[in-house]
Amino acid sequence: MSGASATRLIRERGAELGVDGIGICDAGPLTETRTSIEAAVSRGLIPPEEAPGERALARLTTPKLHLKSIRSIVSAYQAYPADRPDETGPLYGVIAPYTRANYYKDLKARLQELAAFMNEQFGCKTKAFSCYVTLAEKPIARKAGLGFYGKNGVIITRQHGSCVVLGEILTDLELDPDPPLEADCGSCRICVDACPTGAIPEPHMVERNRCIQFLSGRRRVIPLDIRDMWQDRLYGCSTCQDVCPFNQSRAQVSRAVPHGSVGGSIALEDALTMDDALFQKRFEDNQIGTREPAILRRNAVLAAAHSGAEALLPLVIKLTRDPDPMIRRHSLWAIRKMRGPSSAPILRGALSVEKEPEIIAEVKTLLDGLDTLS
Ligand code: SF4
Ligand code: SF4
Repeated sequence: MSGASATRLIRERGAELGVDGIGICDAGPLTETRTSIEAAVSRGLIPPEEAPGERALARLTTPKLHLKSIRSIVSAYQAYPADRPDETGPLYGVIAPYTRANYYKDLKARLQELAAFMNEQFGCKTKAFSCYVTLAEKPIARKAGLGFYGKNGVIITRQHGSCVVLGEILTDLELDPDPPLEADCGSCRICVDACPTGAIPEPHMVERNRCIQFLSGRRRVIPLDIRDMWQDRLYGCSTCQDVCPFNQSRAQVSRAVPHGSVGGSIALEDALTMDDALFQKRFEDNQIGTREPAILRRNAVLAAAHSGAEALLPLVIKLTRDPDPMIRRHSLWAIRKMRGPSSAPILRGALSVEKEPEIIAEVKTLLDGLDTLS
């Protein structure tokens, strides 16, 4: 069978399985991607602790290391809905659309079925993935003609904008590659201007340490200016995607996803009080469940600070005495934001018992700010 006929059968079967987009590319090393990751690390756009080591970088950018006999890659995407959640308002924290269910797992299940079809139909070897940490998926999707890089660093598809997750099947089958998509952002820079933290210093470059999408999943002290811009985010950030014109005209998706559905928002009261066992249960099978529960609690504290909701105040006050210094630090800041000058007794009380020098220094600064106000 010719490469073109095999490609046609793969596309047809993929569509039957509910895969929203399929493109083909060769399996050569992703040399440009390697160079741009190295440049981003050396410029500090990727923090040192997140920088891939030599082995990880080689695996990210060398498809052959995942399947020795590889000749082609079937790149695929699955679209997800990105509507504003039903329940919002001061008592809720918003979950970014890409993680309201485990779309990666859903796509991987479909790709595994497609790979089984390919094995049976063509007697080939295959390996199916759907997760960035294993192989650099965005450059593969771009090479396979599924989309182009937006200035916010995400892949934008013609039909579904950037509201997609990516995956791929590596195969030793010789397939006909697709041409790259001839499109780009043009002179648009809406996302660059809309990013609340200025995390896009130049087109296609996102500074991770300023990106809420990145920070909301990491155990970090959130910089003070970024805490001020946090708003109602509980996990992830989609502002630069929400404003993109390609997402205004995207095709709508409504399919139910059976894995890890957590909804578009969560009551902040729940997120502030959830113990670790409940967290594991609630986020089992969702990417959020792979994070430490304290990370979501910290995010909830920041969202509560922005909510202005009196009902949440006692819960945040309780967290100012949490054993975890990250939670105490953000909670004390939140109390300052929620109560203004009347937060002084709580901040002074915290100073009298706090042992962590960095928290002591920050609380002193918060108190100094209050003195300036009075
Ligand atoms: S995800 Fe949010 S913080 Fe990150 S670049 Fe986009 S708008 Fe900025
Ligand atoms: S908002 Fe404009 S610049 Fe940003 S990704 Fe979309 S088209 Fe490109």
